Amino acid sequence: MMPAMDYPQRAVAVDLGGTRFRVAVGNGSGELEWRSSQFTRVERGLQAVLKHLYETIDEALAASGPNRAGGIAIAAPGPLDPETGVIFNPPNMPGWDRVPMKQLFEDRYGLPVQVVNDANLAAVGEHRFGAGRGLRNIVYVTVSTGIGGGVIVNNQLLLGGRGFAGEIGHMTVDMRGERCACGNIGCLEWLASGTSIARQARQRLASGIHSTLERFPLQEITAAKVAEMAYGGDTLAEGLLRGAGVALGVGMVNLAHLFNPERIILGGGVSLNAGPILWDALQTTVRSRTMPSSRKGLDIVQAALGDDAGLLGGVALMTRAVAKAA
Ligand SMILES: [Zn+2]
Repeated sequence: MMPAMDYPQRAVAVDLGGTRFRVAVGNGSGELEWRSSQFTRVERGLQAVLKHLYETIDEALAASGPNRAGGIAIAAPGPLDPETGVIFNPPNMPGWDRVPMKQLFEDRYGLPVQVVNDANLAAVGEHRFGAGRGLRNIVYVTVSTGIGGGVIVNNQLLLGGRGFAGEIGHMTVDMRGERCACGNIGCLEWLASGTSIARQARQRLASGIHSTLERFPLQEITAAKVAEMAYGGDTLAEGLLRGAGVALGVGMVNLAHLFNPERIILGGGVSLNAGPILWDALQTTVRSRTMPSSRKGLDIVQAALGDDAGLLGGVALMTRAVAKAA
């Protein structure tokens, strides 16, 4: 083992979410010093994608110079086991079943490697370097095609017994609601994700409700189009955004009661782009339903780090882990 002073305060972070994978070198001050973004093209198969990842990480380590990065953090779509670093067949990564990422990357690089759920790692990023900086208890919620997040309790990411804590999108907000893709009923994700807003718009149009959304073919309706029409005065679109805001607000009330966070941070494309209609419905719901004791000192704010939250969370995790190991 290297002496403590040889551990650099820099790490490589990898984000496997989305159609591109991203690799960065960052330091303990939250600066990304080098970055690369590559099309993942999962259809090439596991081995080809791994080879491409290795080549990009090789480049990152070379770019990090003689004072090399001292660890690798991988933000991956779940389900995964953060302790063993094994990925279990994420829906958007066919063929990635029981992939021992931590072991593969540790064997290849001889560096400590951590594999963490991407939304959990984004929570760590926002906590350490973003909108949750300096606070001990926060909840991060990302609303995009799905809804995910992470809970930081007393400066620690809450993992749970097997690493699946913080499935914020699958808390029930409507006990008599529809069945979610996960098997539960009335999940927040089923009611308020971008996918859900678009699905509800298509359902209402198919049932004969009139709306300016009728000018688009059904399959082209997205949450972004619903938002655009809502701000153009469309009643259906406005109602859908408000409904998503109320569902998110109910979710926030539950989070406030469970974890008593000092701040709830909302990220993801939908929450950032849906504007005041969704945001006002959310805030009104939280104000009118949260117990006064849990509401005191709680604020709900937008995320600060955008798409880099996961990468910066990885850097935060590894620079701290490396420092601690030293
Ligand atoms: Zn669900």
